[in-house]
Amino acid sequence: KLYNQVQDLKGNIRVYCRVRPFLPGQPNRSSSVDHIEEGNISIIAPLKYSREGKKSFTFNKVFGPSATQEEVFSDTQPLIRSVLDGYNVCIFAYGQTGSGKTYTMSGPRELTEEGQGVNYRALGDLFLLSEQRKDTICYDISVQMLEIYNEQVKDLLVSDGVNKRLEIRNSSQNGINVPEANLVPVSTTSDVINLMNLGQKNRSVGATAMNDRSSRSHSCLTVHVQGRDLTSGSILRGCMHLVDLAGSERVDKSEVTGDRLKEAQHINKSLSALGDVIYSLAQKSSHVPYRNSKLTQLLQDSLGGQAKTLMFVHISPEPEALGETISTLKFAERVS
Ligand code: ADP
Ligand code: MG
Repeated sequence: KLYNQVQDLKGNIRVYCRVRPFLPGQPNRSSSVDHIEEGNISIIAPLKYSREGKKSFTFNKVFGPSATQEEVFSDTQPLIRSVLDGYNVCIFAYGQTGSGKTYTMSGPRELTEEGQGVNYRALGDLFLLSEQRKDTICYDISVQMLEIYNEQVKDLLVSDGVNKRLEIRNSSQNGINVPEANLVPVSTTSDVINLMNLGQKNRSVGATAMNDRSSRSHSCLTVHVQGRDLTSGSILRGCMHLVDLAGSERVDKSEVTGDRLKEAQHINKSLSALGDVIYSLAQKSSHVPYRNSKLTQLLQDSLGGQAKTLMFVHISPEPEALGETISTLKFAERVS
């Protein structure tokens, strides 16, 4: 009984940490990760951060640098499958730019089947499972892909390149939604690959290598599932948001100005708003501050209540990244 209560208290929010390997071509160096053991990660930290020279953090799971995409996915699979039972799910990738968020959610730039991230695998798995259930439930699966940049919501699935600013609505019938964004039915993995490619293309409009907008905006792939029970005719709805967050690195205010400063302030605001929402949910607080950012407004129906949340926090192994690594782990610890 007590065990159940404990589960209930924290059961809907999980935090996984993933450590990126050193990249090919990087000089050989020692990692700032001291050791990893199940849900524990210990970081080599200078005295400034810890008197012992090491700092440990505990999460639901820690994936080391050699974890494969398949391993990461298989721990995520039960959560993803619950969407077909009518649950709402949010999966976030958090971390500084270059720590592996896009790798976890989508995969490496040159995508191979093995490299496919959570997004592709999740949809593939939903197709497979809905096929297995087709004698009892008829499922319709469709996706939206949105970007939040400077607190503006944009549709990434436009074919004409026109990317106007959209409103988040709250209707009694559909809950929180973005009615003007394209909602595209999908039934095969190749449908999904085509849409992701379109979204990727739209996301990088106007971006150059030096000015990679994807690190300064949140992208959200939303999977809407509707299932009709073939005997009773009853309908169930579930929805899953797969969110590749903007880079969490703090920007030195003395070094940036103008547009870059504005972007940094918007990112800061929305990541703190997200942290505050998850923190108050974990605390079972009576007031959850959803209204403080577009991101938390958009995800309101899928954060809290019966909804399930998984946060992947990413860290880079380089000693130079230590400051950001520790602030990432602290963010993660607060919400877990
Ligand atoms: P972010 O989206 O957080 O900015 P990326 O996902 O783009 O970071 O990762 C930065 C680089 O590291 C990319 O070249 C990516 O392919 C590589 N990378 C990230 N995570 C891994 C991993 N687990 N295994 C191998 N390469 C990785
Ligand atoms: Mg990225």
